[in-house]
Amino acid sequence: MLGMSRGDRFGTHRVLEPRGTLPQAAWRLDNDLTRMFESELLLEVEALNIDSASFRQMEEANPGTEGVAQQILETVAQRGKQHNPVTGSGGMLVGRVVQIGSEAEPAATGIGVGDRVATLVSLTLTPLRIERVRSVHLRTHQVEIDGQAIVFASGALAKMPSTLGEKVALAALDVAGAAPQVARLIKPGDAVLVLGCGGKSGLLASLAARRSGAGVVIGIERDAVAAAPAQRLGAAHEVLIADATRGVEVAERAVAAAGREFDLTISCVNVPDAEMGAILATRDGGTIYFFSMATSFTRAALGAEGVSRDVTMIVGNGYCPGHAAATLKLLEEEPVLRKLFEERFG
Ligand code: NAP
Repeated sequence: MLGMSRGDRFGTHRVLEPRGTLPQAAWRLDNDLTRMFESELLLEVEALNIDSASFRQMEEANPGTEGVAQQILETVAQRGKQHNPVTGSGGMLVGRVVQIGSEAEPAATGIGVGDRVATLVSLTLTPLRIERVRSVHLRTHQVEIDGQAIVFASGALAKMPSTLGEKVALAALDVAGAAPQVARLIKPGDAVLVLGCGGKSGLLASLAARRSGAGVVIGIERDAVAAAPAQRLGAAHEVLIADATRGVEVAERAVAAAGREFDLTISCVNVPDAEMGAILATRDGGTIYFFSMATSFTRAALGAEGVSRDVTMIVGNGYCPGHAAATLKLLEEEPVLRKLFEERFG
């Protein structure tokens, strides 16, 4: 490698267009990884964990493993990052640290060359090169590749735990923000609704709600197969089979099951149009945590206004301090949760 320039900690030196934006907002990043900056870590990538909303969209657009692989290669070739142009979402990755720049803290804190790590920042801001897609796993949304990626100093990494299978840890870390954020939002006795309660984030959020002292937890899943893991986990007092995109119906059924409107609603579905069910089910003064990347700000804001509902709506910031460790701890402490993750991802 040639002598290194400093770069900046947010990675703006990698933005090709439009100039002046940050890497997440950028259309295209510089993914020439033969030239490194001091504010960067270089990773040899083993697998991508594609965001659920993104994977679903790609599967619908061009089905099968070949179709998904082709779309990933095209996106990375066009944009220098796996930033789905339709859903706007990415995912995260697992790999091994190859090089650490002298100004790569705080991302590099506690991390050494050779460590196996998962990125805790989105693929939508991660410069990525793919030499080859080795395999696409339709069930787990994980994609094994040969490639390299960059993490900037302002990013975050988690060392892969030795106590959990790698694919299981990767799946949990992808949604690491969900459970800790729910634990922060909940008050003891709250009525909590979880849309998409049988998925990764839905299971974690339901359990966090229950452990934090929710009075009643109601989960929604669209069919019996997807509801089964939530029923086995037992964090929800009741799991209803309903379509979260049918706002009036889903809210009526959920409120009837809880016996009251909800103090806190968490949207963990991977499809668009679930805003109104969450809004209608939540009481005036209550809170909605839109973890789902398929959420539309416009639909949520105008939808709540349109039905005169005074709810606080929180964008699903994937980060909160200690989120990776808290999520892995939950898997260690809760054997049923761990088994469900191992069955699906192990
Ligand atoms: P997941 O494991 O695929 O779970 C999504 C669940 O929603 C599935 O069980 C799915 O059922 C269910 N579902 C889909 N459509 C539904 C409907 N109409 N009614 C009721 N349930 C429905 O996804 P995940 O990984 O937990 O991710 C959930 C969402 O969070 C996605 O939108 C993802 O992009 C987003 N996400 C956000 C962050 C963040 O930081 N905010 C980070 C990662 C992911 P089926 O299996 O039957 O489809």
